[in-house]
Amino acid sequence: MAFELPNLPYAHDALEPHIDARTMEIHHGKHHAAYVSKLNDAIKGTELENMSIEDIMKNISKQGAGVRNNGGGHFNHTLFWSVMTPNGGGNPEGELAAAIDRDFGSFENFKNAFANAAATQFGSGWAWLCCDNGKLSVCSTPNQDNPIMDVTADCGTPILGLDVWEHAYYLNYQNRRPDYIEAFFNVINWKEVSARFAATK
Ligand code: MN
Repeated sequence: MAFELPNLPYAHDALEPHIDARTMEIHHGKHHAAYVSKLNDAIKGTELENMSIEDIMKNISKQGAGVRNNGGGHFNHTLFWSVMTPNGGGNPEGELAAAIDRDFGSFENFKNAFANAAATQFGSGWAWLCCDNGKLSVCSTPNQDNPIMDVTADCGTPILGLDVWEHAYYLNYQNRRPDYIEAFFNVINWKEVSARFAATK
C-alpha cells in the first residue's frame, strides 16, 4: 500500500541544456525519493495508507506537517515530471490553446502571468496553471503546498506546475531563477497539459 517513487518518463539528461542531468538525478533520486519515504513513514499504520494521494491532499487540513510537506512533495513532483519532455515547448494546441487565449488574452499574456507567479513566489514553492470549471488561472503556493489542498485558496485543478525551490535549479542557474523559468518553457509537455485539461471536464 506504500507510495512509490515513479520512474522518470525520460533519461536524466533528456531535458538538457534547459535542465541539467545532475539536477535531475538529485531532484528525482534524492529529493522526491525522500518525500515518498517520509510520507510512507508518516502514514504507517493510519487510515491514510488506503487513500489516494489526491484524497490525502484534499483533506490535508486534518494532517500534521509531515504528511502535508511530504505528501505535497510527492504529489507535486509526480505532476512536475509528467509535464516536461525532451523536445517540448512551443505552443499548446486545440482546446487548451483556445482556453488560454480566452482566459489570458493570448499565449504571451499567459506566459508572462505564469513566469511572474514563479518569479515572485518568495522562497520555496510552486507556480501553477489551474482549471476551475473550465476556466484557467495562474497561482502560486509556498513550500510543498498545492492548489488541491484544502488549506489553499481554491483555484481548481493544477494542470501545469513549476518547482521554484532552489534545489530545482541552483546547480545550473545559481540565483538566476528567471533564467530557469524561461528555460522551463522549452521543455513543457503541452500534450500532457492538454490531456490534464481535458480530464478536468
Ligand atoms: Mn523539488
